[in-house]
Amino acid sequence: MCTGKRICFVRSVDILITSPVLVSTFDLSPDIPLYPFSSPISFVYFDLDDTLLDHRGAEKKALLELHQTVPELKLFETPEQLQSVYHTINTKVWVQYSDAEIDKATARVLRFSRLLREIDITDEALSSDLGQRYLDTYAEHWSWKTGARDAFVRIADRLDVGILTNGFAEVQRQKIEQFSELGHHASCTVIGEDTGFMKPDIRIFEFATQKAGVNAEEILYVGDSLRSDVRGGQNAGWNVAWLADNLGPTECDIAEATFATWDEFESDIAPHFVR
Ligand SMILES: [Mg+2]
Repeated sequence: MCTGKRICFVRSVDILITSPVLVSTFDLSPDIPLYPFSSPISFVYFDLDDTLLDHRGAEKKALLELHQTVPELKLFETPEQLQSVYHTINTKVWVQYSDAEIDKATARVLRFSRLLREIDITDEALSSDLGQRYLDTYAEHWSWKTGARDAFVRIADRLDVGILTNGFAEVQRQKIEQFSELGHHASCTVIGEDTGFMKPDIRIFEFATQKAGVNAEEILYVGDSLRSDVRGGQNAGWNVAWLADNLGPTECDIAEATFATWDEFESDIAPHFVR
């Protein structure tokens, strides 16, 4: 497990010399050559689910309500068991959807037909009904992640920011409308479904780079998914700050910077790029 400060500092003389942010922020003492990014950052894209917004919390609460109200789901002994099985299934379905192996309508129902199959029920009508009930209930439990709203607004006050998200387009648009600071501050909003590409496809990152109007290396992407956000962003030449709670020792230096809480992001990472 990683402990303490987890920014992966780049100790490059070239970067020290060429970074105006570093020069303006730090004493050039050899003891403090702290600059974690490949270039000064001029644009910050944020992932939405489980980065700024607590998707996992809303998912858990929605499934708890379904467990309490749908008799068939009582075959899962506890809400926690239902949540765990659903999460495993949904993760696989999302990979299939993001790889364009299945379409949106299929993804919505498939996660529940597979869930029901775990308790030996085959009922497409019920699967379809659960798909819609889940989305309706899920939407009632959206919230910011702790500290995310203030961090987002403070970064947006100083740099251009955008939203880059996978997810069903109409659901993500509803979130951006509901959490008005997102739409108010973001100069670019890129939703995978609208572009025809899903993270980690490099084409969505290239599209987002064009929309931002800056060079790829000037973009910082803040996200929670190793596959979609960290690998995807780095593959496109972006810098990445990875929101991750439990990193193994071999994962600590995968992204340019890692953080576990938004307080940590503001205290340890933002000072390196926000002027
Ligand atoms: Mg995410």
